[in-house]
Amino acid sequence: MIPYGRQDVTQEDIEAVTRVLQSDFLTQGPKVPEFEGKVAALTNSRHGVAVNSATSALHVSCLALGIGEGDLVWTSPITFVASANAARLCGASVDFVDIEPGTFNICPEKFEAKLVAAARVNCLPKALIAVHMCGQSPDMARISELAREYQIRLIEDASHAIGARYRGEPVGCCHYSDIAVFSFHPVKIITTLEGGMAMTNDRQLADAMIDYRSHGVTRDEARMRSSSHGPWYYEQLRLGLNYRLTDLAAALGSSQLDRLSDYVIRRNAIADRYDASLADLPLDLPKRNPDCYSSFHLYVIRLKDVSAHRAVFERLREDGIGVNLHYIPVHLQPYYRDLGFERGDFPNAEDYYERAISIPIYPKLTSDDQNKIVTSIERALNDFC
Ligand SMILES: *Cc1c(COP(=O)(O)O)cnc(C)c1O
Repeated sequence: MIPYGRQDVTQEDIEAVTRVLQSDFLTQGPKVPEFEGKVAALTNSRHGVAVNSATSALHVSCLALGIGEGDLVWTSPITFVASANAARLCGASVDFVDIEPGTFNICPEKFEAKLVAAARVNCLPKALIAVHMCGQSPDMARISELAREYQIRLIEDASHAIGARYRGEPVGCCHYSDIAVFSFHPVKIITTLEGGMAMTNDRQLADAMIDYRSHGVTRDEARMRSSSHGPWYYEQLRLGLNYRLTDLAAALGSSQLDRLSDYVIRRNAIADRYDASLADLPLDLPKRNPDCYSSFHLYVIRLKDVSAHRAVFERLREDGIGVNLHYIPVHLQPYYRDLGFERGDFPNAEDYYERAISIPIYPKLTSDDQNKIVTSIERALNDFC
């Protein structure tokens, strides 16, 4: 089976991890701050807070922004459930802003219309979590303009998008947002096994996230309420969790990061080749926003013929192509239906779900594999559409 995504682990990565295993610190040594510094430098942001997953990063982001009971958070219905769950875990209510059909990202016009309606009934959200679907940035300039106008905090769920750019700047620079989050799960662009990072330019938000990732405890004397009792002293300032990344994982991440730009270049070359070879088939291909350089975590084709969706998907699997579907609209999950959402609430997201298939894209995908995938798609469309 050709998988839809796959990590690339080199001999250098293995050696970097082995060195940590043989060192004095397996978890809280020098590798985590080194990794944070490298990602911050690469994304032109001031602070990186490494945690044990992007889900944790989204959770500490919401906590740091003071999101809690009585608050409302909006996100995209086409995302992994974690984007919405982070707000729910803080006790907030969740609602969704429908996507643009071509990019699968939050539609700025729909965002604006929903803000106008929400302002009228005095029910504005406290924050928006904007997702960089497939690795392409949403229209952050327009979204942040609206967020400023309505005084809404902005989190970027850039789980797919490390190495991507928007208007010439690296995604994660937080030029348009309070916090941007990356995932380092093995199917994403680089991996630390499980892992994630929250980027911000705001010192106070960074301090809060650092506290929340480790029990709400600080050893930073400047922020303590009492003067230190001695070198052992620490204070718990808030109710936190253990979301720490290990040094072992950070060493793998640092080593992987050295190849980030090669990975993203290769992913773009694969996407260009799909664009060219699938252009004449009865498909809608991903729309490229000229403001963006995507990291192409995913390449999603949409069938023009909805009725052939399942048959084509199953045929590709039978042919040994590990296609997948990202994502089932979050509002249609039983947990969210129990909160009152139903079919018909977000028509663009639902239409996407009926037609989308993620086809394989990862740095080590060969041209032969790609030819095989294209031939298989051609045949399946020919048979079922
Ligand atoms: C993968 C992913 C997450 C969760 O990442 P983890 O590191 O697995 O917790 C969140 N949001 C999106 C959009 C993702 O793709």
